[in-house]
Amino acid sequence: MLRLEGVTVRFGDRTVLDAVDLDVAEHEVVCVLGPSGSGKSTLLRVVAGLQRADAGRVFLSGEDVGGVPVHRRGVGLMFQDHQLFPQRDVAANVAFGLRTRGAGRDEARRRVAELLDLVGLPGAGRRSVAALSGGEQQRVALARALAPSPRLLMLDEPLGQLDRSLRERLVTELRQLFGRLGTTVLAVTHDQGEAFALADRVVVMRDGRIAQQGTPREVWRRPASEFVARFLGFDN
Ligand code: ATP
Ligand code: MG
Repeated sequence: MLRLEGVTVRFGDRTVLDAVDLDVAEHEVVCVLGPSGSGKSTLLRVVAGLQRADAGRVFLSGEDVGGVPVHRRGVGLMFQDHQLFPQRDVAANVAFGLRTRGAGRDEARRRVAELLDLVGLPGAGRRSVAALSGGEQQRVALARALAPSPRLLMLDEPLGQLDRSLRERLVTELRQLFGRLGTTVLAVTHDQGEAFALADRVVVMRDGRIAQQGTPREVWRRPASEFVARFLGFDN
């Protein structure tokens, strides 16, 4: 569904992504883990078309999307600072991107109601975003990212600002939601617990390269290197 071949990004003389190869299958949930600065967000930005690669290619459903602009890639994006419009109500935030994609008013309204049900905020359309809790805002951001039915949903630290108990609850809900929708997901997280609960496969990055990938179980049981072991918190 998603394929990266030799994707390389340099900033000045720093190589931030170093010939990264990665495949994500249809309906798969992949979590990218790694220390700060290892290139996780850059990877997502390249796939979204927000960052140009200096070398390598990105394929979505078999198509080389090198020249395809962001809004035509069919990917949904959700960042840690979810950038909702605080002056607009919930419905307007979720509908952002639906109307511009040619949905009529009634269709947009129906779809917004559907999405709010989906993320556990039924009937919240008229509420003010500024008055929502952090967790509720994250759900609105998620509904907005899902609104155009993206073929690939990318989440960058989606639950970053939440406390642990809320994160744990939302992770469980997300897992169920993705399973139900069959969404293909590429998510970045700092939090191993989150990655291991959410992912079919985890990808551990180090200095712009993939240090290891596998099912959470495989990586947990057999870290491929001392770096991965230490990153996972095994201190021996
Ligand atoms: P974090 O966990 O802190 O979010 P990350 O793994 O997402 O880290 P990236 O944001 O991908 O890391 O950044 C990787 C490296 O590239 C960092 O050293 C960062 O400073 C650098 N970098 C990212 N964007 C730019 C840019 N536009 N110009 C110069 N350097 C950049
Ligand atoms: Mg980042």
